Amino acid sequence: MQKNIILKLSPAEAANEQLVIDYIARTEGVPQTFVTGYYINRHSIDARGRQPIVQLSLTVTIREPFIPRLVMPFSFQQVANAPKRVVIVGAGPAGLFAALSLLEAGIRPIILERGKDVRARRRDLAMLNKEGEVNPESNYCFGEGGAGTYSDGKLYTRSSKRGNISRILQLFVHFGAEEKILYEAHPHIGTNKLPQIITAMRQQITECGGEFLFEKKVTALCIDKGSVTGVRTADGQRFDADAVILATGHSARDVFEMLVAQGINTAAKPFALGVRVEHPQSIIDSAQYHCSTRGDFLPPAAYSWVEQVNGKGVFSFCMCPGGIIAPAATSPGELVVNGWSPSKRNNAFANSGIVVSVDEKDAFAYFKKEKNKKNSPAITDPSDPLLLMKFQQAVEQNAFLAGGGKFVAPAQRLVDFTLNKLSADLPACSYLPGIHSTHLQGVLPGFVYQSLQQGFLAYGKKMKPYFTNEAVVVATESRTSSPVRIPRDPQTLQHPQLNQLYPCGEGAGYAGGIVSAAMDGEKVADRIRVCFGK
Ligand SMILES: Cc1cc2nc3c(=O)[nH]c(=O)nc-3n(C[C@H](O)[C@H](O)[C@H](O)COP(=O)(O)OP(=O)(O)OC[C@H]3O[C@@H](n4cnc5c(N)ncnc54)[C@H](O)[C@@H]3O)c2cc1C
Repeated sequence: MQKNIILKLSPAEAANEQLVIDYIARTEGVPQTFVTGYYINRHSIDARGRQPIVQLSLTVTIREPFIPRLVMPFSFQQVANAPKRVVIVGAGPAGLFAALSLLEAGIRPIILERGKDVRARRRDLAMLNKEGEVNPESNYCFGEGGAGTYSDGKLYTRSSKRGNISRILQLFVHFGAEEKILYEAHPHIGTNKLPQIITAMRQQITECGGEFLFEKKVTALCIDKGSVTGVRTADGQRFDADAVILATGHSARDVFEMLVAQGINTAAKPFALGVRVEHPQSIIDSAQYHCSTRGDFLPPAAYSWVEQVNGKGVFSFCMCPGGIIAPAATSPGELVVNGWSPSKRNNAFANSGIVVSVDEKDAFAYFKKEKNKKNSPAITDPSDPLLLMKFQQAVEQNAFLAGGGKFVAPAQRLVDFTLNKLSADLPACSYLPGIHSTHLQGVLPGFVYQSLQQGFLAYGKKMKPYFTNEAVVVATESRTSSPVRIPRDPQTLQHPQLNQLYPCGEGAGYAGGIVSAAMDGEKVADRIRVCFGK
């Protein structure tokens, strides 16, 4: 007999397989030997009470040979001689999962990626972290696997209606991720494990006859009679295609500029901007688990919060327990931070983006106020599709100058930040290029700074140890989602002006995060399959 049961156990009990079998037997009123096996459907932690409880939702087999979890089958076809070829610009999660779906449909993908493969990319990240030098083609956002490769690898998403989340997770497992991502309430892979998984995906694509080309930056779309017929790369090469998937991520500003220059419609898209705050992990653990130390069986604790301040959302974003703050800029002279963590999440700090929603009105008002300041761009058109992108860039440039160069980040202690007070010194911080005590009021736009101050004060009242000067606020968290939307027809998913151009993933404004970008890649590939009559 196979049946589903729920157990509520202490963290130590849940980590002990023999004890779990013992509990299953007791719950079912049978001897332990009758329990032939079980698998976990969901593993979650309820830390609301004084003692955290692990809830395990299990499928157990009793008195019969054990029936394991069904593994989703994937069948990738040989496409070397397939009649249809699709150029995919960008090898992030959207591009990679689009390519894998095209292989399943028997369509040949040709991936053009401006950056390097995961291994070569690692050297460029080291240069950025240690020497403060960014390679504009190979960094935390650009290169094989896109922003997803050296990301934190959190795989949870609220976009459950956008596609089949379970299929995306199963594909990650197929390419080497641990099975636990299929059942954990907050699945996470970790920066150290993602590169091998991305490499395995690439190998699958090339073994099936797809093409994967690095250091191929697309600089123009080839257009003929209202249809895209291919792309041109920076080295002058032309790639013909039956369709083009544009999956270039939220940081490819030159792609947005290329579209505007080619007369292809884009629109400004509201996004969020703010700071990253870092606490000692022990503070977050004690607040969330109500204990002085976490112990061996609980993971480093996370948090998330949302506050409304003067009609604006202030919220935590991409929280990384046991993580590191990373320099995520893609160009010299711009300071952007983000966060990642290794699979064990065993760093001593907990960091999270805390951001404020920003729209066109905010950006236009900002430029109006700044117009007489040195180096401030003259923005006169409130309907400029790149208005929010330019705003994002201006704030990043301010932060770079305030840090003093080499990607040293301007920073302030948390309580000082809310009191408008320059910090006399700064606590230890995981951000490798270093931090510099700065008055962040002079770095962030006024409305962002004030909203963050009030947001921190409001949340600090709810989670007491959070509001402490042991925490440090680092600027700027600005690449939360795309500041530009590339429109597409809701049915065909093609650009309304151009047949066979498929804007895709986070950069086009249809995803936010690894899983939703991957699902959008699959969705676009599926439309292409239908369009090609496959
Ligand atoms: C440090 C960090 C941590 C993150 N942590 C998480 C997390 O834990 N969980 C989560 O869900 N998300 C996380 N994210 C966000 C996540 O990585 C992105 O949401 C996701 O990668 C978006 O996928 P995408 O395929 O749409 O675009 P991207 O991943 O941005 O990929 C776009 C690709 O296009 C390439 N490209 C750009 N322009 C061109 C061109 N002209 N020609 C050729 N190629 C081009 C780029 O080099 C890049 O490889 C993190 C991001 C960062 C930077």
